[in-house]
Amino acid sequence: MTADDLSRVRRIYEALTSEAPGIRIMLQTYFESVDAYGFVVSLPVHGIGLDFVHDGGRNLAAVREQGFPAHKTLGAGLIDGRGIWKADLRGKWATLAALRGAVSADRIVVQPSSSLLHVPVSAARETALPAELQGALAFADEKLAELVLLAKAGSQGVDAIAAGLGAAERSRDALQRSSARTNGRVRARMASLASEPAVRASAFESRRAVQDAKWQLPPLPTTTIGSFPQTPEVRGARQKWRKGEWSPSQYASFIQAQIREWIDIQNEIGLDVLVHGEFERTDMVEFFGEKLAGFAFTAKGWVQSYGSRCVKPPVIYGDVELPEPMTVAETVYAQSLTSKPVKGMLTGPITILNWSFVRDDKTREEVAYQIALALRDEVEALEAAGIGMIQVDEPALREGLPLKREQWAHYLDWAVRAFRLSTSTVKDETQIHTHMCYSEFHDIIESISALDADVISIETSRSHGELIGIFEAHTYDKGIGLGVYDIHSPRVPSADEMTQMIDRALRVLDPGLFWINPDCGLKTRGRTETVESLRNMVEATEAARERYAVKQA
Ligand code: GLN
Ligand code: ZN
Repeated sequence: MTADDLSRVRRIYEALTSEAPGIRIMLQTYFESVDAYGFVVSLPVHGIGLDFVHDGGRNLAAVREQGFPAHKTLGAGLIDGRGIWKADLRGKWATLAALRGAVSADRIVVQPSSSLLHVPVSAARETALPAELQGALAFADEKLAELVLLAKAGSQGVDAIAAGLGAAERSRDALQRSSARTNGRVRARMASLASEPAVRASAFESRRAVQDAKWQLPPLPTTTIGSFPQTPEVRGARQKWRKGEWSPSQYASFIQAQIREWIDIQNEIGLDVLVHGEFERTDMVEFFGEKLAGFAFTAKGWVQSYGSRCVKPPVIYGDVELPEPMTVAETVYAQSLTSKPVKGMLTGPITILNWSFVRDDKTREEVAYQIALALRDEVEALEAAGIGMIQVDEPALREGLPLKREQWAHYLDWAVRAFRLSTSTVKDETQIHTHMCYSEFHDIIESISALDADVISIETSRSHGELIGIFEAHTYDKGIGLGVYDIHSPRVPSADEMTQMIDRALRVLDPGLFWINPDCGLKTRGRTETVESLRNMVEATEAARERYAVKQA
């Protein structure tokens, strides 16, 4: 913040305090350390809450070195408001004791590092998890109990909570000793990772020549992002199978029938690169988590996502490994039905990481690499089974960005590396696709390019003009599809509308590298509108090919 901004902030708090002098304002900060510490603690408020969990030690250092105003209350954010693991209470007590060296004890309030909306309600309701995992969880209720213990240590001395400290330690140790936590094969692969360059054998220009010769796609190839409508029929079938009313083979043949129907539809519409439709998947992270070792699923671990939406994130608690291929059967079945290429469809390591609760004894970087290696096995299995195009989705790449700019480069480096670990061992002729959505791409476009995917599709139809602006400044030199219609609406867009999108994009992007696709997966759409929209998309593409061919000639 500029000095001007800071003085505006001060005026706001001065106004609040003078207009409502009877109200004690607690100014809460969270998710990181406070940069302008001296300024923040000097604001005219009753107290200030600071995060002592995600601050990299900086808030604690600031309190100790710069002091804390004697007449104010310190909200000591000691218990992680975002993670789901039991706290190392001895360590927390040590932090609290250090704070008490700098701030008078009766001025300290213990609290979570942030609001608790990021965690589920109660771990006591999880009864189907392995005991050592269940015992090491602390959801909101358990976190409140931890706070009460710390407060008790504060008022009665640490000996008063000896039993609680011991119990917490035993739970954490039990999880640490569990066999899921340390997998020798994973550790051996991780150990040799440092020397691994994680680059494709050839540069994009050479791969492009090999791929063009192999695939013989028309100019402006058409494709979709992966999923087709998850109709009530599809969801109902999954329920029956989950409840045991349908046998696994009954469910598998239902899925095959869906795949067959949609391969026919895609062929009939005239799309160039097909997909199997993802009918077997609930959501793009849970499906993979359920098949990978090292993951667990809670029964009631719901948390708020956007607005009124809820998600139940997987829990990564052990070393991640691929026990057996996850997507090969459906993809190979789809490919057996058509002579056109069918894209394999995977969720990338960073999206799996960012949409899960992650173990706290390893860095996120390490866990990302473990997931990446498991996905590499899947990519290689798809390639070995004859699948020549593989899409690895990373819609949540941007969500992991640290709050502070100075930490961006490090995150983006390891995130890009994780993606490349998953995708770089394939042959030149194998075409790697990726897809991104839900975010702004302007300030990370160089990292997106560094993923080195042969083709990327980006959701843009909600902010089309803006995204196109980026490509005026940065030439994008690999395959790219900017979504030509918005899948978030049931409205069927006309071919004309899509033509406008295509023309605008082709003003700044090379038509020789441009792909035509909707801007995201179609699972939330109905069947009729999907078919009609895709027909219009193919019509717009055919018209564009004519204009483009004329230009080339
Ligand atoms: N392949 C996924 C799908 O089509 C991608 C979803 C996403 O981008 N969020 O559903
Ligand atoms: Zn998407």
